[in-house]
Amino acid sequence: MIDLTDPILELIRLAATDLPPDVEAGLRTAVGQEEPGSAARGALETILKNVEMARQDSTPICQDTGTPIFYVNYPEGWSTRLLRSQIQQAVAEATRRAFLRPNAVDSLTGKNSGNNLGDEHFPTIHFEEVDGRILKIDLMLKGGGCENVGAQYSLPNSELGAGRDLAGVRKAALDAVQKAQGKGCAPGILGVAIGGDRGSSFLASKEVLLRQLDDSNPDPELDDLEKRLTREANQLGIGPMGFGGNTTVLDTKITSKHRLPASFFVSVSYMCWAYRRRQMIVEEGQITYN
Ligand code: SF4
Repeated sequence: MIDLTDPILELIRLAATDLPPDVEAGLRTAVGQEEPGSAARGALETILKNVEMARQDSTPICQDTGTPIFYVNYPEGWSTRLLRSQIQQAVAEATRRAFLRPNAVDSLTGKNSGNNLGDEHFPTIHFEEVDGRILKIDLMLKGGGCENVGAQYSLPNSELGAGRDLAGVRKAALDAVQKAQGKGCAPGILGVAIGGDRGSSFLASKEVLLRQLDDSNPDPELDDLEKRLTREANQLGIGPMGFGGNTTVLDTKITSKHRLPASFFVSVSYMCWAYRRRQMIVEEGQITYN
């Protein structure tokens, strides 16, 4: 098995310092939707300037480089034990080179490990064995501020008047956006999972954020709801960084999972404008990044 420590280090550098093209394009479109001279437009212009500087200087896009979350799809024959070790080594080296801020803190003592390594959940690594010969690693850096405003709802919810249907899902997701205002660093991207149990629902609401900003949901009903939620969230007037304006979210992504008859969870993962995700492909010994 080839040693992927250095290629994974490059994946981390790219994720932390070079915002993906679809996210940057979304931010540039948003600038044109805000009034010239408004605080909202100024916030977006500052964000974009920061994005350019980070890319040019290979420095983190935001001071909080977040929780590194790896999604590894590996063909038969790869050792997940070795891949985990190489990912951990790359994370420690990325921290040493200041691509990542030391973010792993012992929850009981408050002590920072100093290298972004903690128990087996820091960094988070999801492994999935797949058919074929291509190894794919997706990395998402999930900021703390936006993670704090994620929310989970158990429907029906009488306070929101939300039942166990897509209309109820809509009310829950909009409530989460409303409550996130002033926090979470808007404009955000909403990852929404319908169903599952509490744990799998939250996991799915994050994983759906790996989709491209400009794609469509293959389910027409969910696609309609994604577009509607984005439109309606942008009518709330929260705006970039909570300054008011027309851009509260850049996009919405929704997934649906099987659930128990007794439960109907809606989980919302809120991703901030620093939507840092990158992908690495290993095929026939060749490595490419997206
Ligand atoms: S929520 Fe995102 S943009 Fe805001 S401080 Fe955290 S990582 Fe940075």
